[in-house]
Formats: sequence, structure tokens, C-alpha cells
Amino acid sequence: MTRYIFITGGVVSSLGKGLAAAALGALLQARGYKVRLRKLDPYLNIDPGTMSPTQHGEVFVTDDGAETDLDLGHYERFTGVAARQGDNVTTGRIYSTVLAKERHGDYLGATVQVIPHVTDAIKEFIRSGVTDEDFILCEIGGTVGDIESLPFLEAIRQFGNDVGAENALFVHVTLLPYIPAAGELKTKPTQHSVKELLSVGIQPQLLLCRADRPIPESERRKIALFCNVREGRVVSALDVDTIYQVPISYHEQGFDKEVLDYFGLPNSPEPDLDLWRTIVSRIKQPEGEVVIGVIGKYTALLESYKSLNEALIHGGIANNVRVRLEWIDSEIFDTEDPVIHLEGVHGILVPGGFGERGAEGKMKAVRFARERGVPYLGICFGMQLAVIDCARNLAGIAEASSTEFGPTSEPIVGLMTEWQRGNSVEHRSASEDFGGTMRLGAYEAVLADGSLVSEIYGANRISERHRHRYEVNIDYRDALEAVGMTFSGLSPDGRLPEIIEFRDHPWFVGVQFHPELKSKPFDPHPLFSSFIAAAMKQSRLV
Ligand code: GLN
Repeated sequence: MTRYIFITGGVVSSLGKGLAAAALGALLQARGYKVRLRKLDPYLNIDPGTMSPTQHGEVFVTDDGAETDLDLGHYERFTGVAARQGDNVTTGRIYSTVLAKERHGDYLGATVQVIPHVTDAIKEFIRSGVTDEDFILCEIGGTVGDIESLPFLEAIRQFGNDVGAENALFVHVTLLPYIPAAGELKTKPTQHSVKELLSVGIQPQLLLCRADRPIPESERRKIALFCNVREGRVVSALDVDTIYQVPISYHEQGFDKEVLDYFGLPNSPEPDLDLWRTIVSRIKQPEGEVVIGVIGKYTALLESYKSLNEALIHGGIANNVRVRLEWIDSEIFDTEDPVIHLEGVHGILVPGGFGERGAEGKMKAVRFARERGVPYLGICFGMQLAVIDCARNLAGIAEASSTEFGPTSEPIVGLMTEWQRGNSVEHRSASEDFGGTMRLGAYEAVLADGSLVSEIYGANRISERHRHRYEVNIDYRDALEAVGMTFSGLSPDGRLPEIIEFRDHPWFVGVQFHPELKSKPFDPHPLFSSFIAAAMKQSRLV
């Protein structure tokens, strides 16, 4: 039987609801339960694919090609369960389904309303594709009290009734701010936020209270009394040094125990959390440090490179070193010499990106890495720019460019209008809608024998996630291989370059896909482990 846990947030946004859900998922897994995590987002975009990363953080891509909220990245990193299209829905998608049905005449002449039609569509989403999971954890985006969240809250209220209280638990994440003048953690915002939930008919049974210091017993009692929650179920969620400590810390505070208790499930045996303890100790007691220069455009908002940030930490875990990141806005290289900024770094990474702004600066960083023998990892845009740099500066193709930047006589990187996926051919054209027009999701690549990447992966066929419109143009392969670049990974039909590397360089790899999306703290991605290992070698040289 499947049980449902709904996670809402109150008081302020950015409380780490996603992490809380992910950590609870990991704890239930450690108890032997099968879990799946889902996110309901109350905005009107169909998916976050068209949103600027500075607005909404990174777009996380699933194997089945969905562009989803970054919280799904947390879910995967904590539970290892591959997220699917059906694990993230937005108000926009719900409404577009409802409206399509209305146009189709499916409502048989009824007046189409938020209740029951929109709420029914939401409930259908929550239930869809559930098979043998013991728990579905459903996070509601936004903050309780937002107008946008109302249909979702109404839907989960109904859902709780439909499946019965014994199968549904409402967890509310709140904040206890510390007021220095009073020297106290304040409970009032939590009380108000629970009242807000009550006004839509939801009585949370468990409160997860974020605080920057231990919550005194008296305050927990007060919250329990005013919010009509059992005292044990007012759980402290104290700030921790690394996110991978969250499962351990929540377990110590009794979060999973209270959840099991609510459902009448046994609390023993103790879950084995050694996996998490090892990760935390490796992060907290590293044996050295490497510095990686990340040359990007959205460096001001770290959320826009969430998975990348984590994957680099995982690379550090694999090598027992701390990875210190130097985020460098590539536009600085328009006016300043890259040498000043890059001389001290042990590895250079150019991540995914879109548009011409800052691209020339990124190429200067690529060239620096290539000429100085500094380990280089180019991801997606970072691979495309490495290829353009090679074409311009080694192969002498002065006009080499990407059609993403406008028409060019030498489209080293260009828009493919069709390519194979399985047996079907997908079509795209330059004039299509922007949303959902990219090569998205998992695609296979065949690795060349004897290449660096086949050694790194220990395999000759891999599957990785993609999110891009443009492709490196295979027609230039011979010209580029003649000057030392190797096309070491190709799509199975041989038409799409997936990986490039340089033979005569200590470590220079460009990949058309996003390896960071599949890295886990307990299973660091081989490309990141190898890149950080190369950076360690480099650190002994500089
Ligand atoms: N802008 C490039 C493209 O669309 C690269 C995309 C990316 O780095 N994710 O192909």
C-alpha cells in the first residue's frame, strides 16, 4: 500500500523544503522502504525550461527529457531514484491539460471550475504512475498564504480525505527566527503559518522547525499547544554545515521516527546511516584542497549551477579533497587578461550556457587551459566553445562560430534539424517555439577505444542527459582531428559528436551532455572524480 506525505512550507521561502523532503526520502529508504518524490510548482510556466536560471535556479533534466525544478536534483542526489517527467507539475501544465480537455468537449457541457476540475487534475497527477512505492513524498512549491498555492492546497486536502488519515501525513516546514534583542527564538510566525493552513482545512500533523540554534523545550511545547500538534512531532531542523548532514541530523531529531509512528509502522531496527556519515566526514576532514575556476555567466546566483556545484563536491569526496570554486564571470575577460585570474587555479570548467554574451571570454579561458596544460572540463556550451577555439586557433578557420550567435560561413556548431532517437526521427526548426525544442534527456554515446573517456568510464557505451539546441558539426571532424582534437564519443549513428578530448594534454575533455545531473554523493560521477584527480596533480605543479 502506498502512503502519501505532503510537505508544505510557511513563514518564508527558501526554507529548504526540497532538502527536507529529499532527506526524509533517504531516511525512509534506509529503513528499507521504496520511495518516490514529487514536486508541485504553483507557477504558470508549463515547466521551468524557459525561465532564466537567475529567476528560478537551475533547470534539472530527467532521463525521459523533462525540464524540471531543481529540487528534483536534490531528490535524486539523496535517494538515487531517477526522477521522471511525471514527478514535477506546474499550475501551467495542470491548466493546459484542463483547457485541452475543455476544448475537446470532455467535460460534457459542465462549467469548468477550479474545484473540482483543476483540483481533480492535480489529484490525478499525484496518483499517476504510482506502482509499488511505499511512500510518495509530495512537496508543494511556494509558501502557504500565496494565492497561487491555493488550488494545490485544496487538492491535497481532498486527497488526504480520499485516501484516509492513516495514509496521508501533512508535514509543514517553518522558520523560528532568532531576535537578538530579546535573545529568543520566536514561535509566532509558525503559529500564524499553521493558522493559514488551517484556514484551507489542513491540520499539519508534523512541524519541521528550521532554526539557527537549538529550540528550547519550552518553545517546542508552546508550538505544540498552539498548533495542535503532538509535542514529539514538533521536530527541530537546525542549520548544518553540509547538506549531506541533513539526513543524519533529522534522524537525530526523530523526524523519521515520528513519521513512522504516525503511520503505525515500527521504528526498529535503526537505519544504517554510515553511508551519510562517511560522506560528511570526507567533506569535513579533507586531506587537501584544489581550486577550480568556473567560468560562467550566471555566477552571481549559485542556484543556477546547483547540480554542477554538487557534482564538483562529489568529485572532491571521491578524492578526499576539498574543492574550492572560484566563480568567474566570463565578461571580465573582455577587458582583463585571463592570466591574472586563472594562473592559480588547478582546473578550469566552462559549464552549460546560452547566448553570445560572455562567449568570447569563455573561449579565452578554454585557450588558457589548452595552451597551459591546465585540466579542462567543458560541459555542453563548454564543449562547443572548446571546438570553436580549436577551429579558430589551431585549424586556422578564422570565421569558425556557432549559428547560435548569428549566421556564419563556418558553422562549427549549428542547429541540427533532425536526428535519430531510437527508431524515430525528431524534427526541429529554427522558427519553432522556444519551450521544449531542445535535445532533452538521456541519449547514448559510443566511446572510442583507447580514449581518455573510455578509460574514465570503464565502458564503451554510456547514457547521459542532454539539454541543448545546437550540435558540433561532424563535417569538421577531419579538420579538427588533424590538429590534435579527438572526437572520442559519438552518437550511436556516428552523426553527433558527444565528447571531444586532446591527446597531447594532461586532461582536456568536452562533453555535449550534462554529467553533473547524474552525480551522487555516494556515487560520484566518473568524469568529475577524474577531473578533480587531474586538478590534484596540477596543484602539485603550481
Ligand atoms: N547554447 C548551447 C545550445 O543550445 C549550449 C546549451 C547548454 O550548454 N546547455 O546548444
